[in-house]
Formats: sequence, C-alpha cells, structure tokens
Amino acid sequence: MRCLVCQRWSQSHICKRCQETLLRPTPQKRHIVEDFYAYSFYGYEEIEELLLTKHTYIGSFIYHILAKNSFGFFARHLGLEAFVIPVDDRIKKHGYAHTAILARALKSKGLRPCYNTLWARNEVHYAGKPLRYRLSHPRGLEYRGPKGDILIVDDIVTTGLTLKEAYYAAKTKGASPIAALVLADARN
Ligand SMILES: [Zn+2]
Repeated sequence: MRCLVCQRWSQSHICKRCQETLLRPTPQKRHIVEDFYAYSFYGYEEIEELLLTKHTYIGSFIYHILAKNSFGFFARHLGLEAFVIPVDDRIKKHGYAHTAILARALKSKGLRPCYNTLWARNEVHYAGKPLRYRLSHPRGLEYRGPKGDILIVDDIVTTGLTLKEAYYAAKTKGASPIAALVLADARN
C-alpha cells in the first residue's frame, strides 16, 4: 500500500519514516477543571487530515498508529496504575469506535481499558459549532465504570467541555479521574 502521508510504498498505512518524523509527539498539558489536566501529543493542525479519517473505515488503522506513537510512549514511561476510560466509545457506521482504539493502545501491566462505561445520552455534533452551542447542548455523559483511579481518553480537546463533563460524571459515581489523554489539542 502507499503511505497516506508521503505516498511512498509502505507496509503500513503510515510509513515508518513519517511515523518517526511527523508523528513524533510534542506533549502539552492543559488545565481542565480542579486538579484535572489533559495531556495532548499533537497540535490539531499537524494531524488534522489523519484525524478526519475517523469518518472512514481506514480510520481504525490510522487511530491505532496515532495512539501507538503517542499514548504508547506515555504508558510505557509513566508506570501508572489506572483504568482507561474512552469517551463515548459507541461503534459508528464503519464498524469501530475511534476512542476505543485509543484506549486499547494504552493496555499494559498497569493500565486496563474499560469499554462502554462513559456514554453520551445526547448525540450532538460539535464540529464547527460555536462555544454558545456547546454550552447549551451538553452531551449528557453517564459513567458506569469502576471506582478507583481512571484515565479518560478522547481524540481531540477543543473547549475542554466534554472532558469537564466526563470528569464530573465519573467523580459523582465514585471514580477518581487522574488525567485525560487526548491525541490533539485544537485550542486556537
Ligand atoms: Zn510516509
């Protein structure tokens, strides 16, 4: 196949060279609420086209590669023990849930993914909508995962409202959100 980024022949959807250069993470930390922070690994614009593949079947491969290059590093080096909770990992029309793929990439000795534990009651599409719209249309996240330390996982942080909602949803059910991991920060 051809590398999606540079179009050279490659054994993977993104060639090794592009993974080592374009997908080298530049970690950033953003305050969400109380003592809860989101750690992101790419600027949104840097990987926007790759993120958009989540609306196609190929996105399952791309999200796996993105997570391996960013979250994977985090999981190996931090030595955390926590449950990993993907945000609204409902399977979409192409047969996968992109946030579940991200959570799975974190699976390791201390990190245990728990699927289908943080779902949104309302299906709202925030892409391109103003903050006013986001504020008046909460996703209604409901947590039914384990109590204890959790890492919340999503692909993009924009305003931080979803992660804030996730934090409180989990906390009111007795879980302790220690951080959020996202691929990209889309802050302007
Ligand atoms: Zn390439």
